[in-house]
Amino acid sequence: MISYKYQSPNYNDRAQNSKIEFIIIHYTGVEMEFHQVINWFLNKESRVSCHFLIDKSGDICNLVDISKRAWHAGQSSWNNCLDINSHSIGIELHNSGNEDFTPLQLKSLVKLLKELMSDNGIKSWDILGHSDVSIGRKIDPGIKFPWHQLAKDKIGFFSNLSQENFDTDVSDKNNQHIIEDIQCKLMTIGYGVKKSGVFDAQTVAGLKAFQRHWRPKSVSGRLDVSTKQILTEVCEKLCEFRTQH
Ligand SMILES: [Zn+2]
Repeated sequence: MISYKYQSPNYNDRAQNSKIEFIIIHYTGVEMEFHQVINWFLNKESRVSCHFLIDKSGDICNLVDISKRAWHAGQSSWNNCLDINSHSIGIELHNSGNEDFTPLQLKSLVKLLKELMSDNGIKSWDILGHSDVSIGRKIDPGIKFPWHQLAKDKIGFFSNLSQENFDTDVSDKNNQHIIEDIQCKLMTIGYGVKKSGVFDAQTVAGLKAFQRHWRPKSVSGRLDVSTKQILTEVCEKLCEFRTQH
């Protein structure tokens, strides 16, 4: 059941001819009761909103009509798209960032995602975290968000490769070809990094964002064996999916 009782004033029109391509998942990230969170999104001065907010009990509130551009992603990019708010639906989960998501909340989320994907023709691998589209700036929905569980419901892809090999080869960092290859893979997946051939701050930020989603065991920004293997697999799978559909 979706409640339409609360409507946020914080939205504007989507950019002309923009198609809804992505769903961005967030956590609210504050120690606030649900009604306080609602009030924050209803407050004109906060200048933030989302399309849907899901309570810990699994109740869903629609705060902005999906035809409108809610203000949830801020400065962000994915696959060269720089106006994520115009091209996405934003879903906030009531969660402080330091606690597990509740089973009821996740059940409602999966149901909502499936409906939105089918109604709007959104591809399953275009369900992303705020941290994916705002690298170096945002960390939600965080490492407790169960992307692996969503993958079992056919939402996105999650690698079964081991996350536990933390070995690094120190020479990698100074190897231009290896760094370019890593940067190209991150860019192919969609991350807003540039090909510099140098293990620079934006590369570390990109790797951390990748790890938050696909290798939550260690969000280090380090180029360890598991990170390299999983990055290669995710990149290949996404390319396969994209060519098939
Ligand atoms: Zn967020």
